[in-house]
Amino acid sequence: MNTLFRNFIIVFFVCAQTLSGFAQRNDTLFVAPFDFPLLLSGNFGELRTDHFHSGVDFKTQGVVGKPIRCVADGYICRASVTPGGYGKALYVMHDNGYMTVYAHLDRFPDGIDKRIRDYQYKNEVFRANLWFSPNEFRIKRGDFLAYAGNSGYSFGPHLHFEVRDAKGNELYDPMVFYKDILNDTRSPRIHAISLYAERGRGVLGNSSTSCVYEVVGDTLPVAVEAWGNIAFGVRALDYMDGTSNKYGIRKIELFVDGEKYFSSAMDNFSFDEDLFINSWIDYGRMYNDGEWFQKLFVAENNTLRLLNANENRGWLSVDEERNYNIECRLSDYHGNSTVCSFVVKGKRKDIPSPPTYTHALYCKANNRIEHIGMRLCVPAGALFDDAFLNVRLYEGEGITWRYSLTDTVYPMLKGSKISFWVGRNLPVDKSKLYVRHIEPNDTSSVGGVFANGWITANITTLDCYEVAVDTIAPVLLPEKETQWMQNGMITLSLDEKETSLKSFKGTLDGKFILFEYNSKNKVFTLDLKKERVKPGVHRLRFVAIDQCGNEAVFERDIEY
Ligand SMILES: [Zn+2]
Repeated sequence: MNTLFRNFIIVFFVCAQTLSGFAQRNDTLFVAPFDFPLLLSGNFGELRTDHFHSGVDFKTQGVVGKPIRCVADGYICRASVTPGGYGKALYVMHDNGYMTVYAHLDRFPDGIDKRIRDYQYKNEVFRANLWFSPNEFRIKRGDFLAYAGNSGYSFGPHLHFEVRDAKGNELYDPMVFYKDILNDTRSPRIHAISLYAERGRGVLGNSSTSCVYEVVGDTLPVAVEAWGNIAFGVRALDYMDGTSNKYGIRKIELFVDGEKYFSSAMDNFSFDEDLFINSWIDYGRMYNDGEWFQKLFVAENNTLRLLNANENRGWLSVDEERNYNIECRLSDYHGNSTVCSFVVKGKRKDIPSPPTYTHALYCKANNRIEHIGMRLCVPAGALFDDAFLNVRLYEGEGITWRYSLTDTVYPMLKGSKISFWVGRNLPVDKSKLYVRHIEPNDTSSVGGVFANGWITANITTLDCYEVAVDTIAPVLLPEKETQWMQNGMITLSLDEKETSLKSFKGTLDGKFILFEYNSKNKVFTLDLKKERVKPGVHRLRFVAIDQCGNEAVFERDIEY
């Protein structure tokens, strides 16, 4: 089918259907970004670490370099380059009032590439973010835009594509525009159901906290006994035709005895709402076991617009000795749906008193606590729910005690300040101090600033922390050095254990030369041909500096 004819068909089909949630104007329509059949490797709103997936991922037939065409008339308003995240990305402002975003690109078109490179060389940096005026890079629907790739935080060639409002903050499901050219006859699947007992107000079988059941067929293997206030969660995935990829769930509904208690619809959200994901998911289960349950109830401080619940925020009060019929219904954008039905047996039982705690933090108040050499300030609105700390001190590997704040990790909506007393006369360089976050299988730095004997850092989870010293420089390792000249590519990898990379810079014969950096594999690359290095012997110098100011230097004479 030729491109023009295909475009006509897309426009025809999209015109023919109702665009739910969008202005129903013909001039808002978009053509496909590729001339080959579209398949998704990711859908809108998928659950990711600290955010929702802000667009769709179009597969690019397993290769980088596929030409992307612009989906509607407009102008390229922005181009950005980052070591992680979107990598190389273009933003197009359309005449129809929407903005579209194209991320993980391999290459920019020539005009944009020149502007980015001019900026990088002038400022001697890799990272760039440029805005353009409407008359600089006009583009028509169907015109070549850029080459798709795998740059930034991307783990296989694809195009990350977003539809935003003109301000760029509100995100819409691109599926609305491509529903008729994306085949989907497969239903979502519910893999497991979680149940929660309200602290001090409910009980589930023998648990005063939570339990999980794998779904068998379309129900649970047992009838769960409960008393008091309980709530539910679901672990589920969606599937589409023609791929083995797994997707997020578009719509969830929870019914108790036929009455709707909770629903969610992943139609649109804004970047401001991203962190609410940590309140919607069962954060503790994700954090400790890597399992993503979506809760079918809404925390007190969770204002995510796509969640809807009854006046009890989705909680069920089991106060009669009878069967409660629970139904969890999921559906995708194409209307494929699935249901899991099960029974909760109301059975009178003593509700265990809540576990003891050392400090209570209230989500609506400014909280400030002190505990043996540690201060914690959690501002009002930072917590999703009231939190109960159980601060305990251990012998760790830092220069302070290891402070375990809670028995269950609490994510926060806003940063909170934590300070540790290290003393005024500590015999180490203060710039080398940092606060170390102890995670289940890893540690990371949350930074830290020294003042008057205290080191203070900003944290976004109530978890386990200690103060550590980083005096170890990062290590730069040449990769496949024997092939450098043959390929015209110089590749260095970074090994940094304690803190993270702060900055880097490459020079050739004393002058700045552009190294690209990809943070997902910690690799720096210099393309000698692209940077127009002249044949001959050159002095290459590359410096990488970590967050504590430790410096690694790599030097070589290269003959090109
Ligand atoms: Zn994506």
